[in-house]
Amino acid sequence: MKTAIVGINWGDEGKGRMVDLLSRDYDIICRYQGGNNAGHTIKNDKGKFILNLLPSAITREGKVNLLGAGMVIDAEYLVKEIQGLISQGIEITPENLKISDKAHVCLPYHVRQDILEEERLKDKKFGSTRRGIAPCYSDKYMKKGVQMADLLDINYLREIVPAFAQWKNLTLKGYGETTDAKKVLESLEKCAEFLTPFIVDSTEYLKEEIQKGKKILFEAQLGALRDIDYGIYPFTTSSHTLAAYAPIGSGVPFVKLDRVLGVMKAYSSCVGEGPFVVEMSDDEASKLREEGDEYGAATGRARRVGAFDIVASRYGILAQGATEIALTKLDILSYLDKIPVCVAYELDGKRINHFPTGPALFRAKPIFEFLDGFKCNISKCRKKEDLPKQALDYIEFIENAVNCPIKYVSVGPARDEYIKF
Ligand code: GDP
Repeated sequence: MKTAIVGINWGDEGKGRMVDLLSRDYDIICRYQGGNNAGHTIKNDKGKFILNLLPSAITREGKVNLLGAGMVIDAEYLVKEIQGLISQGIEITPENLKISDKAHVCLPYHVRQDILEEERLKDKKFGSTRRGIAPCYSDKYMKKGVQMADLLDINYLREIVPAFAQWKNLTLKGYGETTDAKKVLESLEKCAEFLTPFIVDSTEYLKEEIQKGKKILFEAQLGALRDIDYGIYPFTTSSHTLAAYAPIGSGVPFVKLDRVLGVMKAYSSCVGEGPFVVEMSDDEASKLREEGDEYGAATGRARRVGAFDIVASRYGILAQGATEIALTKLDILSYLDKIPVCVAYELDGKRINHFPTGPALFRAKPIFEFLDGFKCNISKCRKKEDLPKQALDYIEFIENAVNCPIKYVSVGPARDEYIKF
């Protein structure tokens, strides 16, 4: 069985908790793109963990977690994240954590370049998480990147890093800075010593495990609308958040997925800049943000919030090829008398049902319908029959509108706070 768990919207849909829940049925959990620019929050019997790089099953015993070939990994950050979890009592060894030798290393100068560029842009900034992700992916495509495999050969690192740093300085000088290749190397060498036991050829490793019949779960970061090609470019991330990329980004491009679980929240949230058609403002936004605790797990930034967006979600489901849906955080809507749902957009005076590309999205306006609120605490509900009629109506309305079966509804952040449909 090969399954991907992916985001349908702008990210922060609650993918981490779904991976945490479903990973019990899988043997290997792979992250296939991105870096420490997003955070998963998981709560279980072992405690509360914010994971930026490590797959969400890292706290489960007996599971292998893999950082895939399509990722960009800040080596220093990874070492700290591993050490932090170990200090929280989680066992991390080369048995349960593997890092693809093809993954790229996000270096200190990538982080600096990201920060300097956001500062230069001032109010025109993109809302980067400033973790060096875009510069690192850019360098990968410029063929001036460091792969995890390079960490296994210090002499080779000593050759390439000064050359790359010299090239990078052509850019950094424009911001009035330079990078010191020696310091970059020192840090890399230290990280290499720590990380070497974890580095594997993920293609060979996964191929063999699949042949043995092992079940693989692919875990995405962010959502469909942040995909570099299919998202709200340029307000996207620099990698492929789509399920179609999961096998490629993990190391097994020959694999076909059996199941794609799309995760979407019962309302919308969006971190950073860019078009966000359903955005609420003022008190309405503050109330939903507070109720939903909508602050970035990686950065603490207040998220922009809005009503559930059927137009965007339908597009996200299409792009992800989702075969089923998990609807999360339904409990958050319990304070509303009437629940707004964006059912279509108005673009240049016309009602549209498709998700526009490019600047048209800035001009699109939401068309709402309002459903009855359920006005009660549903966090103790564990069966479909426990839910009030209005909550069931809301779920059914969304399911019909997006035309994809909703199989899970979560009603609280803890592992067991969900209903299987
Ligand atoms: P991810 O990046 O898609 O995994 O999402 P995040 O971890 O950034 O955001 C999900 C947040 O919502 C986390 O803080 C979760 O603990 C929390 N959460 C997830 N599902 C539920 C739910 O059903 N109800 C409530 N109240 N919180 C939830």
